Amino acid sequence: MLDIQKIRADFPILSEKVNGKPLVYFDNGATSQKPQIVIDAIAKYYQEINANIHRGVHTLSQLATDAYEISRVKIQHHINAKFSHEVLFTSGTTFGINLVANGFASILKPGDEVIVSSLEHHSNIVPWQMLCEKTGATLKVIPINENGELILESFDALLSEKTKIVTVNHISNALGIVNPIKYIIEKAHAVGAAVLIDGAQAVPHLKPDVQDLDCDFYAFSGHKMCGPTGTGILYGKEEWLNKLPPYQGGGEMIKEVTFEKTTYADLPHKFEAGTPNIAGGIVLGTAVDYLNNIGFDNIQKQEEALLAHATKRLLEIEGLKIYGTGKNKASVVSFNIDGIHPYDIGTIIDKLGIAVRTGHHCAQPIMNFFCIPGTIRASFSFYNTIEEIDTMVEAVKKAKTMLS
Ligand SMILES: *Cc1c(COP(=O)(O)O)cnc(C)c1O
Repeated sequence: MLDIQKIRADFPILSEKVNGKPLVYFDNGATSQKPQIVIDAIAKYYQEINANIHRGVHTLSQLATDAYEISRVKIQHHINAKFSHEVLFTSGTTFGINLVANGFASILKPGDEVIVSSLEHHSNIVPWQMLCEKTGATLKVIPINENGELILESFDALLSEKTKIVTVNHISNALGIVNPIKYIIEKAHAVGAAVLIDGAQAVPHLKPDVQDLDCDFYAFSGHKMCGPTGTGILYGKEEWLNKLPPYQGGGEMIKEVTFEKTTYADLPHKFEAGTPNIAGGIVLGTAVDYLNNIGFDNIQKQEEALLAHATKRLLEIEGLKIYGTGKNKASVVSFNIDGIHPYDIGTIIDKLGIAVRTGHHCAQPIMNFFCIPGTIRASFSFYNTIEEIDTMVEAVKKAKTMLS
């Protein structure tokens, strides 16, 4: 078992007080907290090797370039990509999805179809709507059942030779449901469609194996996995990244520029125009090391215990309903109490030092499905404790008494 107190000591913010109470941070689905080793690595980069990469012959530029490329290889191994040039540094999941959606504008024709699911975050819906508007393709949506699970028969029925790309999240941010992405990828490939997986909520909890999954694209953010904000990765299969046009033009992404014709750089640089978030890219590698040192088996065990305890304790409260009751779940509990607006509960328990998210969680279609304005979402990380959950449950009970 993990020594949670020792792990908590790695995260300075966890010993802070908020509104005079010890912080209980249950908004990990929005962003995770950062261990000291990550915070220090950012300062160390600026103090010791700050320079622009891939440009200079001078020593610091070489050191910065090496550190950046070492981090890329580290992440390649972490997600088991075949080549390091299939690992693109981005500013986050949103950027990665937009890069792919934009690239597909040169592939789709009127009448083609794009499949998304009704469990998606807005950032895995809107770019595809924009793509369909631009190209005349049609957006098709996989429905969910009352447990918040994708209805796979409906997905099967949507697939056809018109389907050009299928895009779903690995784990739902609003409900915590883990999607059967291997099945989805296999079925989509059988009709010749590409598949993008939005891994933003998965990477804090598990180590994705992109070759085993056989997905064509896998996008995630660094800030939800103990890394800095403004960092992220888009994995793409080499053949797809060669096929897609560049997303942005600029420095670093070219081979040769003349006013007649510009030729593009090889992968991954073709998709990395301009000066990137160098410190962020390097430190994302530090965060990946940190998580691997703890071990994803240990992380999952702790999070499963937290999820089970939270589910059991919350259901003791009369009138409380949990959304997303499917079997396969990550450590997220989304709930409401009869007759009380989620925002009111969130506001009261914040006064007691407890950070949860209230609202639609950038997933309005799910809220519409359940006919609710939003939920209270408690999302747990390996550094959270059973005692913190009990504190939250007592606070929710108190809020309920005050509000009813
Ligand atoms: C957070 C999140 C995103 C967006 O990530 P950004 O870091 O804001 O780009 C996309 N999809 C899911 C499932 C998310 O949880």
